[in-house]
Amino acid sequence: MGVAGTLSCKQCAYSQNVFLGIGFRYMDLNSILEWYEQEEGRQHIREYMSREDTIFECYDGIYVCEQCKYLLNGIFLELKSGDDMYTNRYDCPRCSTQMPTKPPLDEVESGQLDCPACGETTLEMNLYMDWD
Ligand SMILES: [Zn+2]
Ligand SMILES: [Zn+2]
Repeated sequence: MGVAGTLSCKQCAYSQNVFLGIGFRYMDLNSILEWYEQEEGRQHIREYMSREDTIFECYDGIYVCEQCKYLLNGIFLELKSGDDMYTNRYDCPRCSTQMPTKPPLDEVESGQLDCPACGETTLEMNLYMDWD
């Protein structure tokens, strides 16, 4: 089950709605294929679906740019089968640096994110509803 909330800064006007966690339609690859948009990822999902020993991880997380602290709320997808593995990747929309491979869930919930706009303080996290 996922949660939705708002990240906001006490020092400046930065505020962003975020979705975190695992939704109902994240539970199997067939369902993921119904909503997953990025074409490269879709091809990998189809390929891994046809294998018997595929395991995967899929959830909404927050990627933090190591260069400029930009926060990207995105879907993490990792597919594994035997020695093969696919992980989706994002580039930072602000500075084009490649984002870390996997968005951490713990740091977000414990409020350890720096404000990407002013850098002055950590963001306040208000989780207000279950989204699935
Ligand atoms: Zn960046
Ligand atoms: Zn700020």
